Amino acid sequence: MEVITSKDKKTASKKAFELLQEDIKNGAKVFGLATGSTPEDLYTELRHSDVDFSESISINLDEYVGLSPEDPQSYRYFMEEHLFKAKPFKKSYLPDGVAKDLDAECKHYDQIIAEHPIDSQILGIGRNGHIGFNEPGTDFGVTTHVVELTESTIEANKRYFDKVEDVPTHALSMGIASILKTKHIYLLAFGKEKAEAVKGMIEGPVTTHVPASVLQNHPNVTVILDEDAASLL
Ligand code: PGA
Repeated sequence: MEVITSKDKKTASKKAFELLQEDIKNGAKVFGLATGSTPEDLYTELRHSDVDFSESISINLDEYVGLSPEDPQSYRYFMEEHLFKAKPFKKSYLPDGVAKDLDAECKHYDQIIAEHPIDSQILGIGRNGHIGFNEPGTDFGVTTHVVELTESTIEANKRYFDKVEDVPTHALSMGIASILKTKHIYLLAFGKEKAEAVKGMIEGPVTTHVPASVLQNHPNVTVILDEDAASLL
């Protein structure tokens, strides 16, 4: 793992943007994308850049079960607002959170990932060490699956909802096995509340208790932190 620490989120996001541009120059065409507050500044950099994704594919990590693409809390909506409207891709995939048959949707998503091997994968990390919505205890071998969100994740994400009861309890998430197959992973983490998870990911044992620790087994991971997230290293 290469670890890059910058003074704040904005500077770190600029660094991530520069590195991503290198991947693009080197031919990256399929991008694994994440939602949440972590990649917001990176997406701002991309929106204001001359990067052209019109011949590229994006595949997002996850989506809430029960939220349609038009729902402002859905991850599809987030992606449209933060990136896709300004920088359309040839095709942008997210799991379908309102699919009637969620197991079939998981298989369908695995097929999409298999058909479009991901060149550059953007990841955030949960306070509990999750990547995507792969919560602690998740088997490293899983592919796309239905997840029951932990209390810690629901608590962290309630800021986007009127009340905690509105936070969906389930999500569809790309699995750890698929994340490990991506060519170059950028894991971004900002803020003191991520410091413990970051320490576990980098310095702890590889354990399903801290799903991100599995990234120690991937040959090409760039961890991009601000000083707060790096403060326990
Ligand atoms: P955040 O979420 O970017 O909103 O902190 C990251 C995550 O839970 O993976």
